[in-house]
Amino acid sequence: MTLHPPTILVLLLLGYVMLGLQLAMVRRRLNEVEALRRWSWGNSLLLAGHLMLLARIVVPLPVSVIAGNTLILLGECAYVAALQQFIDDRPLPRWVRRTCGFCVAAMVPLALFDTPTRVFVASVLTPLPAIWGAWLVWRARHRVERSLWPVGAGLALIALALLARGGHAALNPSYYTDPMLPGGMQAALLLTSFVALLGSGFGFVLACTERATRSLEHLASHDHLTGALNRQPAELLLTNALQRARRDRSTVAYVLIDLDRFKSINDRHGHVFGDEVLRRFAQTVDARLRATDVFSRCGGEEFGLVLPDSDAAGALGVVEELRQACAAMGLMTDDGCPFVLTFSAGVALSPSGRVGAEALYRNADRALYEAKHAGRDRVVLAQPEAPQTT
Ligand code: GH3
Ligand code: MG
Ligand code: MG
Repeated sequence: MTLHPPTILVLLLLGYVMLGLQLAMVRRRLNEVEALRRWSWGNSLLLAGHLMLLARIVVPLPVSVIAGNTLILLGECAYVAALQQFIDDRPLPRWVRRTCGFCVAAMVPLALFDTPTRVFVASVLTPLPAIWGAWLVWRARHRVERSLWPVGAGLALIALALLARGGHAALNPSYYTDPMLPGGMQAALLLTSFVALLGSGFGFVLACTERATRSLEHLASHDHLTGALNRQPAELLLTNALQRARRDRSTVAYVLIDLDRFKSINDRHGHVFGDEVLRRFAQTVDARLRATDVFSRCGGEEFGLVLPDSDAAGALGVVEELRQACAAMGLMTDDGCPFVLTFSAGVALSPSGRVGAEALYRNADRALYEAKHAGRDRVVLAQPEAPQTT
């Protein structure tokens, strides 16, 4: 099989058109507007660049090569700018923009040199933005969407292929007198571009879709005011924790927290202040929990805490720590008076996960009621239910 560079170029162009159509369709539905806009620019520039390379049939060769490679380089810069926006939510650093500008400017004088020199210089300059893009994905590999990994891999592959061609051109200049000859390095490079750049494009769209799905899931499962989990997903996590406790013979503690006299806080200081208290309370609790603990808003000013692998002393210790943290929150009312938030809590235990989710909630609720009845600002540990006698 002989690889024919112009045929691969045509396939590459068709790929860019398809990717362009996909980008136009998803741009309206996804949140990553700025990143997708930059990627679309990159796609159009790459399409124009490869079209220019193909146009050597009608335009002078140096013009086709210089204009084509310049557009391809600009397209790559736009891809990398889109990646930086997507990963870090900011534009490219100034030094990277300057490097891109330098590489683009360096393309123009290339018209003065012979083809092997042009191929060598273009092969050394064009990988630079791709290297930065691959590095961005590698640096953020643990926090970004998995579908972004092929994007980084694609950019690394294209950079390696270009550098390999640069090395080859430096060692065998005579090989590059006509880079459009069938087979050989140029065809291999175009084939790599086909796989790597288009693969990166589709991977990027997939990553945007993955992020949009994740944010919808987050919206559906979290309370928008406090950021705490909603009741339903928290119940699911409680059931999981109880199953694990049955296997490990550990104890799960469930804490029900109700803010004290919240109605009068709203009545005295307004609902906006009440909302702020709820937000700050949630932040304070969230900052003090372990990764395995589950914090949820059960409704109104009532919150639930699932503490896996926690006995009575551990759970009471956590509640005491929260009480102190709430007292030290440093809230100020509109009239400049310090405001101290207190809450009441009921703690129920499920040793070895034997007490089910519903009974656990009931026991914690009963204990919370006792805490309120006893004067608020306190925690009560639920006594285990007496075994039923017949
Ligand atoms: P107790 O100490 O017995 O718990 O008294 P309480 O006033 O806290 O309890 P009650 O159930 O009488 O009042 C709860 C109040 O919480 C009433 C409701 O207006 C308020 N509330 C519920 N959800 C929100 C919210 O999202 N924002 C604000 N600002 N207030 C809320
Ligand atoms: Mg209350
Ligand atoms: Mg309440």
